Amino acid sequence: MPHPKIAIIGAGPAGLTLARLLQKSSIPSVIYEAEPSRLFRNQGGTLDLHPRVGQLALKEAGLLPQFQQHSRPEGEASKILKYDGKWGKKLLGVQEDEKKKGTYNLSFADGSIETGIDLLVGADGAWSKVRPLLTAEKPFYAGITAIELWANDVDKTNPWLGKYIGQGSLFMFDEGRAIMYQRQGSGAIRAYATVRQPENWAEECGIDWEAPDARDKLVKEYFDDCGEELKRVVLESKDLLIPRKCWMMSVGVSWKSRQGVTLLGDAAHLMTPFTGMGVNVAMADALDLARALIARKESVTAKLVSDVKNIAIAVEQYEKEMLVRAEENAKKTVHGLKGHFSATGKRSCSTSLTKAGSNALPNRVHRRVILRDYGKPIYKASSRAALLAALEGCIKGHESLRKAGFLYRDILINNLMMNKDEENPSWPSFLIDLDLRIKEARREASGARGKTGTRAFIAIGALLSE
Ligand SMILES: Cc1cc2nc3c(=O)[nH]c(=O)nc-3n(C[C@H](O)[C@H](O)[C@H](O)COP(=O)(O)OP(=O)(O)OC[C@H]3O[C@@H](n4cnc5c(N)ncnc54)[C@H](O)[C@@H]3O)c2cc1C
Repeated sequence: MPHPKIAIIGAGPAGLTLARLLQKSSIPSVIYEAEPSRLFRNQGGTLDLHPRVGQLALKEAGLLPQFQQHSRPEGEASKILKYDGKWGKKLLGVQEDEKKKGTYNLSFADGSIETGIDLLVGADGAWSKVRPLLTAEKPFYAGITAIELWANDVDKTNPWLGKYIGQGSLFMFDEGRAIMYQRQGSGAIRAYATVRQPENWAEECGIDWEAPDARDKLVKEYFDDCGEELKRVVLESKDLLIPRKCWMMSVGVSWKSRQGVTLLGDAAHLMTPFTGMGVNVAMADALDLARALIARKESVTAKLVSDVKNIAIAVEQYEKEMLVRAEENAKKTVHGLKGHFSATGKRSCSTSLTKAGSNALPNRVHRRVILRDYGKPIYKASSRAALLAALEGCIKGHESLRKAGFLYRDILINNLMMNKDEENPSWPSFLIDLDLRIKEARREASGARGKTGTRAFIAIGALLSE
């Protein structure tokens, strides 16, 4: 029986990771990439691949040694993955096959077509051509325009600049503007001078971005009150200047699973880059979709149903988790976007952020409270033993509340929590949503506005040892 035809649109981090993971499990797929070759353009800059997300995907793809070799630790993911698909294949349109529903025909800009695709994966980024098959959601302007600036080979061409930025990053955050610099593996420096401005600002602000004085005008108009060194960095990053508008999609985009088609990465959930999660989430998507497809291929029941059905089950399972993860990260990114451009995250422009300046103000203290998500519902436990251990902890919590004179009445699976995160340890299991607990010895109604709680499961008898 022939293999199902899997087409991945886009050779970005998401598409490449998926293709590699499938390839490792002998599931063939073809990547169609609009650009003419792997070396066509600079493949992006320094990206922070998190150990439990982006790096985990690389590990499963058998590419961690290559990542470690190439990383500083930045991930020029598409270079590392080195996957050759069909280059110069810009997808123009997709039609569902009328005779064989659930399969798709693709038309490309070079006039070619591919027919009978059993699984079409849109990993084609922000302006995905596959997305409209699943949702009418489109990216919208996030209110920020970034002027990307490059200075190449700075240690040779501009040692002052090289030394000032060092080997890491430099940031300045302020109300409505920010400057971010990063050293690249190539020795170049890439910067973003970003401003909160309307969508047409880049065209209408009166700066000709191709003119030699574009940087001077940018600095004079928008960063003039910053420290001299910071301004000098912008002025001396002379090798390239590209205005980039930041786009995003609504938080919580979702769709009803559709046979034979799905989305990965930015195509599914475009976020602004202000928490540095985009590539990690994209690679986590690829990992989950690959795992779901591989699991179906290898499962006992898979043999009893058709490939089409197996793919549909895998896609539905993947999308369920992916959409939740996307929403969580999109929320964090919206928060990050506000933080980067607000005075509450403000740092002084006039002081170097990488070195203590000679005019640094004494007694300046900056305190932050960082809240992290903690735990997950126990039904997401990775094993039965972990589930039972967590349940036992929750029962103890229930008992201890009772000893304190409270009856906890909201025993729902979403309220019984566990935590196995070794990097973020505290209580291994715990109860949440205590607003419906009542004083056991109460004499009157609780005063709660809505009637809720899971009365049928209130274990008062057990708690009273009856
Ligand atoms: C300025 C900037 C800085 C960022 N910094 C970070 C960071 O520090 N950390 C981080 O985690 N994330 C960062 N991100 C986000 C990150 O780059 C993206 O989330 C990530 O690249 C998404 O990967 P992807 O594979 O889904 O899409 P993409 O990387 O966009 O890849 C999509 C691919 O599809 C191809 N394609 C598009 N349309 C078609 C078509 N019609 N036919 C065929 N091929 C097509 C494209 O050519 C491209 O190769 C940043 C983004 C920007 C814009």
